Amino acid sequence: MGSDDHDPKTLKDPSLRLLTRVADFVEPLTRFDRGHLVLEASQHRIIEVAARHSFRVALSFDRGAGSGVLPVGVVQVATAQAMAAESDAQLAAARAGIPGRLADWAGQYGEDPQRRPAVPDCFAPPPVIGHVEACGSCNGRGKIDCRACNAAGAVECPACSGRGSRPCPACKESGTERCSRCHGQGYEIAHRQETVWEAATNTARTQNVPERRTCGGCGGSGSVACTRCGGARQETCSRCAGQRKVTCETCKGAGALGCEACASTGKRHFTSQLVCAITETFESAPRSADAEVAGILKTLPSIEDVLRYAEAHRATAETDASTFRRETVAPIPVTSIVVAVGPRRTRVHGFGPTQDIRDFANIAGILLSDDLDTLEAALPATRLTPPRTTPEMDNALASALASEANVAIAEKPGARGLAVVLQDFRGLLTEDHVRRTSAAIGKAVRRAYWSAMLRGPVAVLAIPLLQFPVELVLHRLDPAARLSAMLGVMLLAFGGAIAAHMLVVRMLERRLAPGGTPRLWRIMSRQGHLRDWLLGAAAVIVAGTLAAAGLANLISPASAAPVTAPLTP
Ligand SMILES: [Zn+2]
Ligand SMILES: [Zn+2]
Ligand SMILES: [Zn+2]
Ligand SMILES: [Zn+2]
Ligand SMILES: [Zn+2]
Repeated sequence: MGSDDHDPKTLKDPSLRLLTRVADFVEPLTRFDRGHLVLEASQHRIIEVAARHSFRVALSFDRGAGSGVLPVGVVQVATAQAMAAESDAQLAAARAGIPGRLADWAGQYGEDPQRRPAVPDCFAPPPVIGHVEACGSCNGRGKIDCRACNAAGAVECPACSGRGSRPCPACKESGTERCSRCHGQGYEIAHRQETVWEAATNTARTQNVPERRTCGGCGGSGSVACTRCGGARQETCSRCAGQRKVTCETCKGAGALGCEACASTGKRHFTSQLVCAITETFESAPRSADAEVAGILKTLPSIEDVLRYAEAHRATAETDASTFRRETVAPIPVTSIVVAVGPRRTRVHGFGPTQDIRDFANIAGILLSDDLDTLEAALPATRLTPPRTTPEMDNALASALASEANVAIAEKPGARGLAVVLQDFRGLLTEDHVRRTSAAIGKAVRRAYWSAMLRGPVAVLAIPLLQFPVELVLHRLDPAARLSAMLGVMLLAFGGAIAAHMLVVRMLERRLAPGGTPRLWRIMSRQGHLRDWLLGAAAVIVAGTLAAAGLANLISPASAAPVTAPLTP
């Protein structure tokens, strides 16, 4: 259909033009060309849509409270009662003003379907009012007495229990200590020199005579006044320096704490602000007996959508105390065609001069349903464990993957993928069709992948057995060399696993997409088969390499621990 006669812009017949638009959208997404879509019937109508737009003006108070005096710009009234009365007056005045303002606005813009009244059109904000009260928590003082010290700012010294002094720890309150000169004896021994006349030899000699004397240090008592307390038995408390009290920790000596309720200002303020909000509601009411068309037109979300499809419009407006209502009646040209796809039929509608299609009425689902039925019918003869596929399943999967829509579904598995696909294909395929396709293609791809893997490429998992001969050759080497040999074998095997995946994908591409290639590599990754294979293979490779190394050591144990070299003399 490349000729200019069939260009959508030049086609005169609206139904043919709509069919062309449908085909332009559907053709690239399925393996079926537009020859499969047959125009069976058509209808061109003008359907009136009554778009009901309403704007309700509502007034409310924003009330505020805070500490200290009123914020700048707030008009102060004397009391809470005065504020309530003034608020009521503001509300009454604003309410009285709304109908007139709304009517003025409606007189100017009421019949313009896209105009919306704004808050300044219906409401002039009165000043914010407020009043100030003494803080209830602190009775206006801005502070609260400290409970820890009963507002005194100081508490009894905990070290001396308020006595100002403590028992002397050196003399244990005895006021004395042992005399250091006589060690508590009370006396000391002195040696007096005495000259003795030796009659036998008739010589004089000097001898020492010990003599017990009362101790001069303690006067014979053995004890002296305690050097620490000077005999007072008590010593001044070092914590309070004898003052008996210490500064209160809680209030740092202030005797009071700041009031949190009023941020220490002693005042609380309260404000009242009259505010206005406009609530917009929109409803599209098509005047059509055709439930399908009416159902689609009802979902138009805004007046702009309605006007986009309308060739003309006329609006009527009315205003009451607080609500402005506008009804815009817009005639919308609707082309409806019945498209036959084989034995099945579906209706597609084009809206407005551009024939916008809001719902493709499952037309792709109908085109693709035979492929899906065939694939679902082929699956029961296959299985996953052990993997087995049939040529019927391969052929059905190949047919299914020849359509771009199915590839897109296969690339987005799981619940999140389903949501994305439904968003992208809204109306082109039903949710049920997408779910069935996702399940059937997922199952078929999984079986095809794992059976292709088992048909040969899985042999790379035998690579770790290489470690066995390597061990036999190397077991007399040092541990570092053995370890690198082991890592080398593992890396080789892991590389083999990646190559095995690539080989399987190539095999499947040849089988499932001999002509054009659906993106099998991406499908395998997105469906998690690449990840499952690599994780499983890694586990087998590590276990296999270690097992091969262990077995080699069992059969030919490494030589006994190296003999320590004898020390050279
Ligand atoms: Zn306070
Ligand atoms: Zn205190
Ligand atoms: Zn003390
Ligand atoms: Zn003494
Ligand atoms: Zn003492």
